[in-house]
Amino acid sequence: MASPTVVVVGGGFAGLYAARSLARRGVHVVLIDRLNYHLFQPLLYQVATAALSPGEIAEPLRAILRKYRNVEVLLGEVEHVDVNARTVTLEDGDEVRYDYLVVATGARHSYFAHPEWEPMAPGLKSLADALEMRRRIFLAFELAEREEDPARQQALLTFVVVGGGPTGVELAGAIAEIARHTISQDFRHFDPRQARVILLERGERILEAYPPDLSASAQRALEHIGVEVRTGEGATDIQPDHVTIGDHQLPTYTVLWAAGVASSPLGRQLGVEVDKSGRVPVQPDLSLADHPEVFVAGDLALLRQPNGKPLPGLAPVAIQQGEAAADNVWRSINGEGRRPFHYFDRGSMATIGRAAAVAEIRFLHLHGFIAWLAWLFIHLLYLIGFENRLLVLVQWAASYISYERGARLITGPWQAGWPAAELVGAKGNAKERGQSVGR
Ligand SMILES: Cc1cc2nc3c(=O)[nH]c(=O)nc-3n(C[C@H](O)[C@H](O)[C@H](O)COP(=O)(O)OP(=O)(O)OC[C@H]3O[C@@H](n4cnc5c(N)ncnc54)[C@H](O)[C@@H]3O)c2cc1C
Repeated sequence: MASPTVVVVGGGFAGLYAARSLARRGVHVVLIDRLNYHLFQPLLYQVATAALSPGEIAEPLRAILRKYRNVEVLLGEVEHVDVNARTVTLEDGDEVRYDYLVVATGARHSYFAHPEWEPMAPGLKSLADALEMRRRIFLAFELAEREEDPARQQALLTFVVVGGGPTGVELAGAIAEIARHTISQDFRHFDPRQARVILLERGERILEAYPPDLSASAQRALEHIGVEVRTGEGATDIQPDHVTIGDHQLPTYTVLWAAGVASSPLGRQLGVEVDKSGRVPVQPDLSLADHPEVFVAGDLALLRQPNGKPLPGLAPVAIQQGEAAADNVWRSINGEGRRPFHYFDRGSMATIGRAAAVAEIRFLHLHGFIAWLAWLFIHLLYLIGFENRLLVLVQWAASYISYERGARLITGPWQAGWPAAELVGAKGNAKERGQSVGR
């Protein structure tokens, strides 16, 4: 009998670890991703804030899986899954047949029924998102240098981060450090230290998934580096030149979105009812109730813990589920019974700026420099590729000593796109009217 084909859709944490685990056992694997690289999402904010370059947190899937001759990597977007015919269909109509399927297509950000906010407040999920955030942050400072109107200049120097989870905390901390340290000497017509960085959290405290003492410690660390933390307040409207908080309008050109997650739309094609954020309920062995040959892993899967709460959308959950799904596929191929998935929680951590973090490791609550060292160690450990690890370590060491951020590049035509188009357009009109257009 020909060896079964396992199709893995998604080369993120869950998909890649599933594919690798099956590859080591000699199973024929077809890994399909719409990107040709595996992305280490926990360090995306470092690309968005110019501490790292895209290549340092991404590694080509083909290179990672090069040594496994039994693995095929296909670049393509899966648009349709037919669980009865056991096929997946790519965007150009190509079909791939499977005996077992692992769906691990992750999640994207959601704008809570306000999709119209997306152009004004980009989220952070892909490298393209990170580069767009980087462009907006550094462009705002550049435009402020040329701006003569003090109100507009202050609006350019106001950065609002929506969402006080780990990503929002990391982004706000990094922007404050950029303004207070990295570029503090670089401009002539304003003092970058006067930039306002505001972190909005609708809930009672930032980092709500963490114990209250660590939330408080993170808030103190953020305030220490100049972030205004506003809890119990969310954005009620976002427009190109302001954000509305309650009934107050705050002029700003840079709003960054770090709130809300919606699962990949592919989950809706698997013939089961998904939850309100699009997650697919799975059996304890991570398969679908009516299709034991189909597994779902990572951010897309909905599996409750013994306390009734769903497992969180975290990289370690995705990694462990990818490996567990692969193990259960292997067991089925060999006619063995499957094992239920158990999450081994090694703890979670979030970093605040250059050398502070909070970490919850079982009963241990760490904060400050020691938590940051733990964060650094764990992130390096899981970063795929030896070369990347080395590069990132060198970058971190350099920026730790100097506060420098080597990737402060505004790429693409800066006049096109938000916020430059609007402001430069306004000045262009002024010029036609013969007025001053700036320095
Ligand atoms: C900014 C940010 C910071 C984070 N920080 C942390 C952190 O500090 N610690 C932590 O534990 N977790 C963190 N996370 C969460 C963590 O990254 C996710 O839980 C994890 O990536 C989920 O893995 P996954 O494999 O389910 O999905 P992903 O890693 O998102 O991978 C999904 C893959 O599927 C591919 N794909 C999607 N749709 C299709 C399709 N239709 N066809 C083909 N391919 C498709 C995508 O290209 C992608 O490669 C962070 C996430 C973000 C966005």
